[in-house]
Amino acid sequence: MHKHHRALGLAATTVEALTGLDIAERRPVQPVTLVRPHAARRAARFFVEKFPGRTMYAVKANPSPDLIKLLWESGVTHYDVASIAEVRLVRGLLPEATLCFMHPVKAEEAIEEAYFRHGVRTFSLDTIEELEKIMAATRGAEDLTLCVRLKVSSEDSKLSLASKFGAVPGETKELLFATRQAADALGICFHVGSQAMTPQAYVKAMDRVRAAIVEAAVTVDVVDVGGGFPSIYPGMEPGSMEAYFDAIHTSFESLPISYSAELWAEPGRALCAEYASLLVRVEKRRGDELYINDGAYGALFDAAHIGWRFPVRLLREPESDVRDMGFSFYGPTCDDMDHMAGPFMLPGDVKAGDYVEIGMLGAYGCAMRTGFNGFTAGETEIVTDEPMASQYRGAAERRLSSNVVKL
Ligand SMILES: *Cc1c(COP(=O)(O)O)cnc(C)c1O
Repeated sequence: MHKHHRALGLAATTVEALTGLDIAERRPVQPVTLVRPHAARRAARFFVEKFPGRTMYAVKANPSPDLIKLLWESGVTHYDVASIAEVRLVRGLLPEATLCFMHPVKAEEAIEEAYFRHGVRTFSLDTIEELEKIMAATRGAEDLTLCVRLKVSSEDSKLSLASKFGAVPGETKELLFATRQAADALGICFHVGSQAMTPQAYVKAMDRVRAAIVEAAVTVDVVDVGGGFPSIYPGMEPGSMEAYFDAIHTSFESLPISYSAELWAEPGRALCAEYASLLVRVEKRRGDELYINDGAYGALFDAAHIGWRFPVRLLREPESDVRDMGFSFYGPTCDDMDHMAGPFMLPGDVKAGDYVEIGMLGAYGCAMRTGFNGFTAGETEIVTDEPMASQYRGAAERRLSSNVVKL
């Protein structure tokens, strides 16, 4: 079926259609990152058009320059950066983008460089000490948007972001009050945790925002609901993104804030998960364990360390007709921890020399890669087929095909 794409010849400018199977037929020795610019463009357009506020891309999810440029071309003008290296990266690529430094604990030197050299005016904080640091580093700037980060629950999310940052109820009144004095615009932000499986996560967090605003009796100019918008993985198939947007919009409208107050979001995963997948080669099979050429120190950190299951498919022609069974993976390094428990569902006859595509790795995949033990990234290839599932193509595409969901 993949072959037929080549015959489409839509327009002179159409790039040649390519799928993971086409790349596998070249028998690459290194793992190959397969990127789908069309999928990232679709996600960006969806957020820009449908999120009822401003969409800011959380760069840490995937800092690839190609991705950042195509998000910009698709209408994403604001970027959530968390380190001075991310500030420099995005500023170098996008001179006109608005950068928001949303890490609540920053080095004073980083704040100073961000403010004076890169035009950053928005910063987050969760303590009085960080507020004082920002004011000192910017020499008492009067043009700042300062966002107070509240601690909220991560109970509805797969990855907690609840322990490290955020002011708790006893602290918020004084902090909001002091920040209001220092800021040109005052914001409140939070993060419900990554891969939030229900819109209720945001509704509950907005209740915390409401309580904080009422208690401090301050004027709030920005409410930033952070990231956490989910993507699709085996055993984690969330509802529609519109349901999240609607719940957030309704909560936002009921807050005690002025009509001119702005709503922001900082999606990372949701904008880039569908952008990339990984093509790996099976180097050895031992029972239901496959030794593959990428792993925990490569693009599969989450699969190894937090047991995240990614969708997989065997790229072999003709297709195997053997029933699927569950496999675990070992990565290429000499380390026992380089192990991905899965289970990953693949035809029972998978063997050394086969190629497997691991899907939905655009977020927190390649971004985590190290060069440990000499195993590094191979080539990156653009492919034009669809990701294994999509949040942005209607209900049917929000499901993974059967081979990757059964356990
Ligand atoms: C990681 C992070 C994000 C992105 O989170 P996703 O779950 O990938 O959407 C957004 N904002 C902040 C402050 C973060 O730390």
